[in-house]
Amino acid sequence: MTLSGSGDSQSGSARAHFVLVPMMAQGHTIPMTDMACLLAEHGAQVSFITTPVNAARLEGFAADVKAAGLAVQLVELHFPAAEFGLPDGCENLDMIQSKNLFLNFMEACAALQEPLMAYLREQQRSPPSCIISDMMHWWTGDIARELGIPRLTFSGFCGFSSLVRYITFHNNVFENVKDENDLITITGFPTPLQLTKAKCPGKFSIPCMKKICKKFLEEELKSDGEVINSFQELETLYIESFEQTTKKKVWAVGPMCLCHRDNNTMAARGNKASMDEAPYLQWLDSVKPGSVVFVSFGSLACTTPQQLVELGLGLEASRKPFIWVIKAGAKLPEVEEWLADGFEERVKNRGMVIRGWAPQLMILRHQAVGGFVTHCGWNSTIEGICAGVPMITWPHFGEQFWNEKLVVDVLKIGVEVGVKGVTQWGSEKQEVMVTRDAVETAVNTLMDEGAAAEETRVRAKDCAIKARKAFHEGGSSYDNIRLLIEEMGNRMNAGG
Ligand code: UDP
Repeated sequence: MTLSGSGDSQSGSARAHFVLVPMMAQGHTIPMTDMACLLAEHGAQVSFITTPVNAARLEGFAADVKAAGLAVQLVELHFPAAEFGLPDGCENLDMIQSKNLFLNFMEACAALQEPLMAYLREQQRSPPSCIISDMMHWWTGDIARELGIPRLTFSGFCGFSSLVRYITFHNNVFENVKDENDLITITGFPTPLQLTKAKCPGKFSIPCMKKICKKFLEEELKSDGEVINSFQELETLYIESFEQTTKKKVWAVGPMCLCHRDNNTMAARGNKASMDEAPYLQWLDSVKPGSVVFVSFGSLACTTPQQLVELGLGLEASRKPFIWVIKAGAKLPEVEEWLADGFEERVKNRGMVIRGWAPQLMILRHQAVGGFVTHCGWNSTIEGICAGVPMITWPHFGEQFWNEKLVVDVLKIGVEVGVKGVTQWGSEKQEVMVTRDAVETAVNTLMDEGAAAEETRVRAKDCAIKARKAFHEGGSSYDNIRLLIEEMGNRMNAGG
């Protein structure tokens, strides 16, 4: 963002007031901070619900919206971690030490219902006109019904994966499938699609996950619509089909990351960067445009140390320049030992390792970056699309496998590294799913100078051009965000 002013509020009527309730996980919160800016830039008022620990991480965002004079207010609610058996201060999914605590975390979130309701009731001078809630906060449904205002769902999925989720869940597609590797044809999908049970989100073995997912999806069915961080021209067929299948209005308002227009706000996005950006930018400035491979697996995926070593060896063998982000976490010391034992020396001047949080958006947008090895989280995928950078897809869990299909089979802007199954969150299994040879082959295929790789690059650049068109004045997402604000404002002025 170089955030632009305080927006053009609707004349003659009360300003629409959006209450944004993000899941406390960086992959869910970050796009909602972008959403808050966009809504406010277009004239709405925003209350952004958070908790103390998360508010501290949002300091950069708070400073940016303040500097731009945007009507965005952070609302901090006490997070009852200890009451639900979580360590004190455990207020974000990336702080959970064991998957067995996931349910505790979700219950602590649900306990925010009462304080949020009380806060919203107090807002008599500017009552909320609409809640945009993360799908996982199923408990916001009751608040919206009680206040008589619409609740829109934000899942963080693209249209393609939202539709797969909807069909596979509501039709119990994988229920009686015995062989996990059987290819199952997904009927009701607008284009031919075959999936295996081995790569579906149910494989993400968290206790009670199925039960809680049912709650998310039941509330989604009752919601008044969906907001998605995608754009019409990228996946028209799937967005329209999702809308027809669910019989709900889908507001495609992305790519929301395009609200960031300068390095400062990009660097402040999400957590504080773990390193000084200057040497990385200097290095990127010094290398050939389009030559660097950027490797990052988002904020939650737990790649095993063995797999990380294998990935590093593959990058080394490819002989291509790279920036590799290795998340801070319990396993980092094990990898650290290996990195220090010759790897960093061998790849000196050609490969850079970032330990911890990287300013991903800023790096991806640098002209030196020509390939992105991604876990296919939707934010990373859409950020790659906006940067016009072709991808090597390495899904770990959840809908990431479906995003891979969109990238590789539909948009044809990437190559698969060849992942066969889910990497379980918090799993201790010492698995290597992808060999160094597979990494080397994928990197060389993507960065190749031949015709096939060039065509992939051209398609990726074309997607980036379309993304910008959709986002800026006169584009589909630009219009959608205005229509969304207008509709919610009108409902409010008409008395609900
Ligand atoms: N991200 C970042 N720096 C990092 C890791 C992640 O800025 O070191 C950002 C990334 O740009 C994206 C988000 O965190 O906006 C991750 O979301 P995504 O949906 O890609 O994956 P998740 O973390 O939810 O698995």
